[in-house]
Amino acid sequence: MGEMVTIRETDLVESIADALQYISYFHPMDYIRALGAAWEREQSPAAKDAMAQVLTNSRMCAEGHRPICQDTGIVNVFLKWGQNCRLDSDKSMQEVVDEGVRRAYNHPENKLRASIVADPAFTRRNTRDNTPCVLNVELVPGDTVAVDVAAKGGGSENKSKFKMMNPSDSIVDWVLETVPQMGAGWCPPGQLGIGIGGTAEKALLLAKEALMEEIDMHELKARGAQTDTERLRVELFDKVNALGIGAQGLGGMTTVLDIKIKEWPCHAAGKPVAMIPNCSATRHAHFTLDGSGPSFLETPQLDEWPQVTWAPDRAAKRVDLDHLTPAEVQSWKHGDRLLLNGAMLTGRDAAHKRIQDMLAKGEPLPVDFRGRAIYYVGPVDPVMGEVVGPAGPTTATRMDKFTDMMVGLGLLVMIGKAERGQGTTQIIAEHKVAYLMAVGGAAYLVARAIKEARVVAFEDLGMEAIYEFRVKDMPVTVAVDAEGNNVHQLAPLVWRERIAKEGLLERA
Ligand code: SF4
Repeated sequence: MGEMVTIRETDLVESIADALQYISYFHPMDYIRALGAAWEREQSPAAKDAMAQVLTNSRMCAEGHRPICQDTGIVNVFLKWGQNCRLDSDKSMQEVVDEGVRRAYNHPENKLRASIVADPAFTRRNTRDNTPCVLNVELVPGDTVAVDVAAKGGGSENKSKFKMMNPSDSIVDWVLETVPQMGAGWCPPGQLGIGIGGTAEKALLLAKEALMEEIDMHELKARGAQTDTERLRVELFDKVNALGIGAQGLGGMTTVLDIKIKEWPCHAAGKPVAMIPNCSATRHAHFTLDGSGPSFLETPQLDEWPQVTWAPDRAAKRVDLDHLTPAEVQSWKHGDRLLLNGAMLTGRDAAHKRIQDMLAKGEPLPVDFRGRAIYYVGPVDPVMGEVVGPAGPTTATRMDKFTDMMVGLGLLVMIGKAERGQGTTQIIAEHKVAYLMAVGGAAYLVARAIKEARVVAFEDLGMEAIYEFRVKDMPVTVAVDAEGNNVHQLAPLVWRERIAKEGLLERA
C-alpha cells in the first residue's frame, strides 16, 4: 500500500462551506440550460411565465450572490472516501462536515435560512445553523475524497415516495399514478430521481443519489436509448410530461427536465422502488480533495444564462390591497394574473398553530385578519440594506387544515404555492375568498417587490413570525377563485388533452 494522504479537517470544512454558499446562489448549468430550452418550447402562457420568473430569478441570484429560494434546504452530503486517505481530526466525520454547514449558513454576507429542527416529534426546536446534515460515507479504493453536496428543499423532499412492489408490478404505472398525486408542492419543472432495488432504505438512497447526476435527457434522446434503463428513462420522461402538469402545476409541456435512475440488486421476493423529486431550486455541487488544500468551485459565466428577462405581464391587473373589497376578490377568475400592491400579512405553519392554540384558550389575537391578505412565507434574513431576504411562497397545502379558522377570522386572500385540497377549495367557494399563487423558486425576484417589512406578532418564531410586508407589483396568479375553480385541477387536464391531441411533445 502507498503512503497515506492526509486530508486536513479545515480543508474539508472550508470546501463544504464554499460549496454550500455556491449552490445557494448558482444553479447548476445543466439545469439552467435544460430549463432555458424548455422555456423556449413551452406553449402554455402561465407555465412559460413561471419559467421566465425562475430563470430571471436564477440570474439575479447569480449576480447578487443571494439564495435562489427562501428555503435554503436540508444539506445532504455524499462522501466517497478513498481508502488511502486519513482525516486529520479528532472529531467525527459528521461533526467536521456539520462545521462546514454551520459556516456556510451563518456566512455574514449571505446568511442562509436555518430550517432544521431538532426533536422532530415534539418540541421541534430550530438548531439555528441548519445542522446536522444528512451524511453518507462510502469507503472506496483510491487516494482522493469525492464529495457531493446538495441542499434539498423541503417542498420537494416532502413529496418523496416509496413502494415495495411485487416483482411483476409495473414501475411506469406506479410513477404515472403517483406523480399527479404529488401535486405542485415540489415546484416543477425539476427532475425525478428513481431508485430501484436493494432494500427499502437503499432504494431511497439510490433515488437521492440519482439526483446528483447531470441532466442529459436531451443528449440521450439525440443518440437513442441503448439499455433497458435508458429506455425506461425516456419512456418515463415522455409519459410524465404528457400528464400536462407543467411548471408550478399551472398546466404545460414540461413537468420534468430529466428522469434519473439508479439500481441495485434486490431480493427475489420484491422490487423496492423509490422516487424523489428535485425542484426548481435544484442545488448540488461536486468536488474532490487530494490533500493539497481546500477545493473552491469555479464561478460560472453569467452570459451562459439564457437571455430571458421576466417583466410583469401587461394584461395583469393591479390590485390595491389597502382598499381590497369582497366584490373585487369575487371578480377575479382562476388563471388571472395580478400584481399586488399595498400591505399583506405573512404567516406559515407555526404561526397558524399558535393562532389555533390561542383561540382554543380564548386569548385575544395580536393581529386583526379582517379584510386582509396573508402570504405563506418564511423569508431568509436580510443582509446589507435589504428589506427582506429571498421570500418566495411556501406550500399552501400545509395550511389547508387552518383555512376554515382563518376565513372565520375574516381573512380575504391567501397567497402561497401549489394546490389546495378539495375541502379547502370548497371553503374558499363558500366564503367567496381567493387563493393566489406565487412562483416557488423565484424567491429573490419576489423579494424585490417587498418594499417594507416589519414583525407584527410572534417574533420568537423567527422566520415563521407574522410580518407585515408592503409590496409593489408582486406577481401572482389566481389559483382558486371565489367560485371554487381550481387552476391546479383544471389546467393540467387542458394541457394533457392538448399535448395528446396536437402532438405537442413530438413536435417539440
Ligand atoms: S423551489 Fe420550491 S420546493 Fe424547492 S426549495 Fe424552493 S420552495 Fe422548496
